[in-house]
Amino acid sequence: MKEKLYIIPLNDALQALDECPFCFLERKLEQDLIDFVLGSSASYMESDTRALTDKAGFCRSHFKKMYDYGNTLGNSWILKTHYQRILKDMEQAFSSTVPVKISFFDRKKATSSPNTAVGRWLLEEESSCYICNQFEKEFPRYVDTFFYLYEKEEEFRKKVLSSKGFCLPHFARLCEHASQNLPEKKQTLFFPPLFNLMKENMNRIYEDVSWLIEKFDYRNKDADWKNSKDAVGRAMQKLKGGYPFDPVFKQR
Ligand SMILES: [Zn+2]
Ligand SMILES: [Zn+2]
Repeated sequence: MKEKLYIIPLNDALQALDECPFCFLERKLEQDLIDFVLGSSASYMESDTRALTDKAGFCRSHFKKMYDYGNTLGNSWILKTHYQRILKDMEQAFSSTVPVKISFFDRKKATSSPNTAVGRWLLEEESSCYICNQFEKEFPRYVDTFFYLYEKEEEFRKKVLSSKGFCLPHFARLCEHASQNLPEKKQTLFFPPLFNLMKENMNRIYEDVSWLIEKFDYRNKDADWKNSKDAVGRAMQKLKGGYPFDPVFKQR
């Protein structure tokens, strides 16, 4: 099958037994890309790589990760030429934004989409990120592979059903994919067992967090921590994805 490339990383991600295998894949890709743009291969000195980062830019969360990674010179190069592009686009957006007359009625209407060229330009900028874009390209391949293996390989299905489930954002995307791509009969193989898995694991985390609070009671000071010691970070990951408890990823 064409998704062969994705089988090994997906199995590795499941094997890791984290709160979400797709978060695991996302982090791997993210760190590989940060290494690629800022690491020792010095891709930031190559104009074709910089043409890509100039065009896409980075989101707030990835700028933060690039800052923390280190490499001031690399970041400066990436920023310098990205700024050249931004300055040009800004000029254009500013010159096409002109004052418009509005009626009293229009003034009270909530605006859901930007009204100005500046607003439209910045909305587009905000949702564009070299690293996020790459993951968006890869993610559907992983989801296809996931469903392929889930359906065809009992071993894989067992592994999924004994895993810790998924973070909510990635689980939502799996459900959407299933409802849009799987025939009804196959959806029944997916929805009920995975809803059970998610319920079990959301409750598990709820219990971990609850027990962590109990541990602060002096009467429980000698009691077992159970699985609660790292519950805060895992509970956050389960709700929103990512690894809030990870150490900073730095240049090696
Ligand atoms: Zn996730
Ligand atoms: Zn991003």
